[in-house]
Amino acid sequence: MPPVTVTFLGTGNFEAPGRYWNSFVVQAPELTLLVEPSPTALPNLRRAGFAIEQLDAVVISHFHPDHTFGWPFLVFEAMNRGRTHPLSVIGPPGVEEFLASMMRLGAVEEVSAQAHERLSIDYLTPQPGAPLQLLGGAHLTAHVVEHVTRLTCFGYVIEVGGHRLGYSGDTHPCAGLEAIAASSQTLVLECNGAHPSPTHMDVEAVRSLASHHPGTRLVVTHRGGDVEPGMLPGILVPDDYDRIELTAPPE
Ligand SMILES: [Zn+2]
Ligand SMILES: [Zn+2]
Repeated sequence: MPPVTVTFLGTGNFEAPGRYWNSFVVQAPELTLLVEPSPTALPNLRRAGFAIEQLDAVVISHFHPDHTFGWPFLVFEAMNRGRTHPLSVIGPPGVEEFLASMMRLGAVEEVSAQAHERLSIDYLTPQPGAPLQLLGGAHLTAHVVEHVTRLTCFGYVIEVGGHRLGYSGDTHPCAGLEAIAASSQTLVLECNGAHPSPTHMDVEAVRSLASHHPGTRLVVTHRGGDVEPGMLPGILVPDDYDRIELTAPPE
């Protein structure tokens, strides 16, 4: 059976020089997910060899622009390429209206209207803690994480191909992140680095999470410019376009 892979389209936060912004593709035989339609998701999908037609779902953790502002370009691409099969968009409460307002602000409402006439786009907000069924028997479970108070922010656990892949979204240490780490074999984890208010993970917080979850493989993304791999021994620190395979834990 082909492996389940994670391809990093970008691994930086929006301040890290030389890195695109955090976004990745989860690819399994039964489905392909784009996690975070970052502003550069479309050119990075192309460069990494993915076509818009391959995506079954787009997963959004929260509405900050570094995670979402690539949406209009994905809609254009879907229209231009004559995409026909349904697309699910999964995100926190209000995701449909948030993306519609982005199209209005960009003065491309008519493109959005055409896209919704021609394409089947389904907007889904999972109930936190309740698994949402995806294609091919895969599941996704949302957990509320603590990032900024003005937004509902989700992290996720995706069960696909016998693997449990966690994603932190943007968060600081909190109960939701602990639950995600405890349920994941591999956890894609933000490490934005030092921040004046407690809204993100820094190196110390990532090390602490790793020590509490020795059975979970941590993979760092959303990396700040001052976060270097040598600061995170035993933790995978990928570069843009790196691809990892998900591996089942030893019996
Ligand atoms: Zn954020
Ligand atoms: Zn962010």
